[in-house]
Amino acid sequence: MNVFFISSEASPLAKTGGLADVIGALPQALHTCKHTLTVVMPYYRQVVDATNINITPIKKNISIWADGTNRNCPVHQLYLAGVTFLLVEQDDLYNRKGLYGTTDGEYEDNFLRFVLFNRVALELAAQSSENVDILHCHDWQTGFIPLLLRSQYGHFPKLAQTKTVFTIHNLAYQGIFPAEWMRRMGIPTHHFHHDGFEFYGQINCMKAGIMMADAITTVSETYAKEILTPEYGCHLDGFLIRHQSKLSGIVNGIDINVWNPANDPLIPHTFSTKKIAGKKKCKLALQAFCGLPLSESTPLLTLISRLAEQKGTSLLLPNIEAWMNQGMQLVILGSGDLEIEKSLKKLATKYPSNLFFMSGFNEPLAHKIYAGGDIFLMPSLFEPCGLGQLIAMRYGNIPVVRSTGGLCDTVIDYNVSNKQATGVQFLDATAKALNNAVNETIALFQKPVVWSRLRNNALRRDSSWDRSALLYAQLYTDLIKK
Ligand code: ADP
Repeated sequence: MNVFFISSEASPLAKTGGLADVIGALPQALHTCKHTLTVVMPYYRQVVDATNINITPIKKNISIWADGTNRNCPVHQLYLAGVTFLLVEQDDLYNRKGLYGTTDGEYEDNFLRFVLFNRVALELAAQSSENVDILHCHDWQTGFIPLLLRSQYGHFPKLAQTKTVFTIHNLAYQGIFPAEWMRRMGIPTHHFHHDGFEFYGQINCMKAGIMMADAITTVSETYAKEILTPEYGCHLDGFLIRHQSKLSGIVNGIDINVWNPANDPLIPHTFSTKKIAGKKKCKLALQAFCGLPLSESTPLLTLISRLAEQKGTSLLLPNIEAWMNQGMQLVILGSGDLEIEKSLKKLATKYPSNLFFMSGFNEPLAHKIYAGGDIFLMPSLFEPCGLGQLIAMRYGNIPVVRSTGGLCDTVIDYNVSNKQATGVQFLDATAKALNNAVNETIALFQKPVVWSRLRNNALRRDSSWDRSALLYAQLYTDLIKK
């Protein structure tokens, strides 16, 4: 099959979260199954160039009329592990510090930025040398592709039989914009109503994708059910129920070559179930880096996350002082909400021998924290899939997670099966429930035989893309046959 992935980010070129990890790994896994894969994304020049990955301009210049001007969009290309990446250049729109905005908020012209990108992606697909079987779109930034394909690009021979898949990586971000953008970007208005992409008088890009895609997927089976409820549906549960017949959940994997404790160049000592000494050395190295007392027997808790309400910071913060007074160590890497960052900085100053907080996005440090930690906290209020817990397990860092979404589907709870467990789950979205789960996990940490089994189970868990890539390929095949 000839498959185009259209995404606003992709590892290792530009990443703000799990979406980039998925786009960096799933196309490769599909390519291994003998499909032809192209990823189209914006060229965020300063972000991409900082990776030192060599990309080359190609002789394609796509012209698009947008918001009153004709824009020439040069295209750049690179090949990574059998996958073609096409990057759309438009420096005034994409060559900015952030992908979607700054700490002051989202960029006001995001509708222009991403719909323009959608149109260029469709033009590139229309110029493909083979018929395009599938356009696989990801999150609100690509929500208008299925609609534009049907309304404006259906007459291109290469796109005549194309089917669309729209994957929801996080329903909480829907891309909502003033209605005037329809006129400015030439979006057909006849679907601008309650059963279409209208949302309280505004444009909702997520609704556009849900409405027009041939199939909708989300990134875990549990989240696919949760989003049909008012609690998790982000005001679209009713709308999703109407489109439920085309909705399914396929759990994410991780790139097990990038995340591999047995040969990760970014960690100070490599390790595996058979060579676990390296894990202990990684812990000591992390303690040294963070200025914490070196101690094998002190439980080292870790957290790597966007600092946002979704990630359960309201459950975490009230516990920190008590944990510090109990003598635990906690290493946090994250960025986001400035108030949360301020609270963490204050606590880190108060408890320098127990708490280390690094603000910012730092991939090399993330590897060291996954490798050095004993316990990985993910108390999310909701979690479509979550990759942090998958990476943590891969590094024998035992996840303590709330029972929600993909966390439910990927972590085997010690209280359900102590022989097969890979972590600990808790249900209530309260600080007390998190505290109980952490203390329960520390009690396990203090029993070497139990802990070693738990850690080995986690280290051995298959979090590769193999199984899920086959499920996507099957979904594509079913759509093409329809
Ligand atoms: P989300 O996509 O909701 O942010 P996921 O758990 O699905 O959460 O994916 C988060 C990804 O981003 C993981 O690969 C995680 O390691 C990485 N990550 C999150 N915060 C940081 C950070 N501050 N520095 C480095 N990597 C981070």
